[in-house]
Amino acid sequence: MSIVVLKLPEVKQKKETRPHTCPYCEGETFQRWGRVNKAVQDGRVRNVKVYRYRCCQCKRTFRHYPEGHTRADQTERLRVFAVLLWTLGLSHRASSSVLSGLKVLVSFMTIWREVQEAAKRIKKRNHWKPVRVLGLDGANVLGWGAKQPVLVAVDLGTGEPLAVGYINEYDPQAVKSWLEPLVQRHGITVIVTDDLSSYKMVAEKLQLGHQVCQFHVRRWVGKTLKQLQETIPKEWLWVLEEIRPLLDLLPLDGSKHLHALWKQLPGRRTLPSQSRSALEQLRDLLLRLSDHWQSYCTFQSEPEVPCTNNSTERAIGRMKMRARTVRGYKSWPGMESGLNLAGTLTN
Ligand SMILES: [Zn+2]
Repeated sequence: MSIVVLKLPEVKQKKETRPHTCPYCEGETFQRWGRVNKAVQDGRVRNVKVYRYRCCQCKRTFRHYPEGHTRADQTERLRVFAVLLWTLGLSHRASSSVLSGLKVLVSFMTIWREVQEAAKRIKKRNHWKPVRVLGLDGANVLGWGAKQPVLVAVDLGTGEPLAVGYINEYDPQAVKSWLEPLVQRHGITVIVTDDLSSYKMVAEKLQLGHQVCQFHVRRWVGKTLKQLQETIPKEWLWVLEEIRPLLDLLPLDGSKHLHALWKQLPGRRTLPSQSRSALEQLRDLLLRLSDHWQSYCTFQSEPEVPCTNNSTERAIGRMKMRARTVRGYKSWPGMESGLNLAGTLTN
């Protein structure tokens, strides 16, 4: 689980240190200027002694809060705890009522604000971090009364989301425009995706290494082979038996092999307006696999690249768990930060 979310801050009841600098003028010498007892919402701590100080330089007074306290009514620990409840799947209102069960009153609006703040911190922390391998996958999440297409980018080094875009993954131009600044800022060199042609186009245009998730390849190719098994003329069944071991073993020269098989098949005979015969479908399959082969094997030569996109799918699963509350967002930025925060909860 992300440290940002889980680590509950220390809460001290008394100030242990004097202030270092004046919040107004950066002066460094102070006189103590009285003390106040401030009531706080925390669950464990009921009130806190806050000392006032007077700056010897500018003569202004200010409160110096003990660790874990701010001007807010709630301690920092409670605010992080509220965000944690939300991240685990409770709505803002439900998080608020759990806290009231602990005799702590925090309005759901306060929790909403805390969630937004935590999301902002994550976004800021992620802004310049180096990411070498990026997982990408589309998802549909509930929003504004209907399913909305989003594109999720996950740092495969940590399994945490890097960004969420309001982008349809089937649109290569949109994916490229959204991805390009991320690639530049984070130094991304490889993307891991499923076998959509839009990702292949984007990887080529942005000159990125590309790994296609093995689960996806095996699933769709397996299905296609099973259909062809029933439909192609018997004298060509041997071709299917040549394809299967290639997919199991992923030899680096698989592309050449597939291309040679493609050449042995008769060319297209149906008109463009007619649907393709089974044998022509097999021919298309061979060509596609041969074309994409490189992107099935990237993980063999680059140890940091996983052969599946499972981490990305797990992050999306966490986001979907949260989508019930995300539905309440009025704008894309709100939804984006909510999804980002929800996806950050790893394990
Ligand atoms: Zn001062």
